[in-house]
Amino acid sequence: MSAHGKLPIYEQFFTWQGEGIHQGRSAYFIRTFGCPVHCPWCDSAGTWHPDFVPKTIEKIHPKDLIDNAQKHNASIVVVTGGEPTIHDLNELCTLCSEANLPIHLETSGAFEIKGQFDWITLSPKEWKSPILKNIHLANEIKLIVDSNSAIKQWVENFPDIADVETVWLHPEWSKRNDADILDTITQWIKDHGDPYRAGYQIHKLFSADQKDSHSKPNVPLGGDIKLGF
Ligand code: SF4
Repeated sequence: MSAHGKLPIYEQFFTWQGEGIHQGRSAYFIRTFGCPVHCPWCDSAGTWHPDFVPKTIEKIHPKDLIDNAQKHNASIVVVTGGEPTIHDLNELCTLCSEANLPIHLETSGAFEIKGQFDWITLSPKEWKSPILKNIHLANEIKLIVDSNSAIKQWVENFPDIADVETVWLHPEWSKRNDADILDTITQWIKDHGDPYRAGYQIHKLFSADQKDSHSKPNVPLGGDIKLGF
């Protein structure tokens, strides 16, 4: 965060949470700018990829972000990215707490979390490994299944993942119709049971985020933009 306490914001919009335990709840999304992880299938490439970043990025004070969330009467605030934890989110969290507005974090877990969140969703990425401490802080894990070996590799390399209460298995979006990937998820859940659960980004089926004109068009890598992924 800059000396003036402002955060670089890629977009902010009112929608509902499409993933995880809080799926379906009205949510004010704050998408911070910047991500050093660089996943080849990133679905938020406008936050970091040189081909897609906007010419200018607005820096906004946390108070103004919270005011917007309150105007919409959102049930929760979701801070996502990009990778939000490259920024100091302490003031944003404090202001949310003072406003009695639950604040949730979506992170790769690769960087120290600066702020007190009511809920942490950690989606680890192989291009920048998660910090073990963050896995222990997570309320839920979201594994992106982009190959038949992805789940096994995550659980073998980070066994603590299995101690988190809920571990979602999401097909990587450009492979959501890949029968092998879907079968891998199904079989893993049948073989292992809890804490593993099949997950999906159902807001994309509804185009829910795009219903707010303040959201930016989805800018994905690794897929076909014309086909919507
Ligand atoms: S998927 Fe997330 S962690 Fe990966 S590059 Fe995109 S914003 Fe960063």
